Amino acid sequence: MINSETGKERVDILGFHVDPISMEETLLWIRQKAKENQFHLLITADASGIVQAQEDPALADLYRKASVVTPDGAGILWAANRFRTPITHRVSGVDLVERLCAISVSEGLSIYFLGAAPGVAETAKTRLEQKYPGCRIVGVRDGYFNGRSDEDVAKEIGAVAPDILLVAMGIPRQEKFLWATKELTKAKIGIGVGGSFDVHSGQVKRAPKVMQALKLEWAWRLLLNPKKIAKVRLLPVFARRVLSSKR
Ligand code: UDP
Repeated sequence: MINSETGKERVDILGFHVDPISMEETLLWIRQKAKENQFHLLITADASGIVQAQEDPALADLYRKASVVTPDGAGILWAANRFRTPITHRVSGVDLVERLCAISVSEGLSIYFLGAAPGVAETAKTRLEQKYPGCRIVGVRDGYFNGRSDEDVAKEIGAVAPDILLVAMGIPRQEKFLWATKELTKAKIGIGVGGSFDVHSGQVKRAPKVMQALKLEWAWRLLLNPKKIAKVRLLPVFARRVLSSKR
């Protein structure tokens, strides 16, 4: 099926559509949609997200409602290749956050950072503003609401009505928050970016280049944060399901 948003044939990964789109194409699409007056959800799909969507009907529904689903993670590329519908590019949440800050300078796009532990998104903002002077990060809030409702937090975001709302609260919480509050936040584009603020704040170091090249970044993250085991445990489940599906 062709996605009218990208003009490209979508790739089926275990019953979910992923768009074989490059980073440059994703940024171009975001720039266009940020000028319009409608909310779009962008999901960055990795192996754990697909397995969770298979088991959570509400998340599965959001995968169908998302305007664009980018291939984030080596597992998706491997599965696409095995299904003989190769995807050549990754578009990860971590890279998207950085590239969006860069185009915010040239395009004047406003960005809101919601999520991660107290102080983390703020540090990420400071570091990214140093790297991309003039980048418009118009609001920051941690992802632990302390009894405040999602609606209250969403209204706070709506007061600045950012073009792009980046939410780092983990799958599926971030996607569910984005969709449920889309009218209140007044954002044009909502993107769940997982642990990206942890990385951009400097709390979590990216894997050495050689590990990235060997597609072993997940092993590096696990080493630094054993809590990630719940997510890593979904990888063999994903692999088994791909291997037992018809090519
Ligand atoms: N987090 C949050 N609020 C919560 C639970 C988690 O802000 O109620 C943050 C957490 O601090 C971390 C991020 O969400 O920064 C989760 O990152 P992870 O890489 O585990 O996300 P996923 O891979 O699930 O997208």
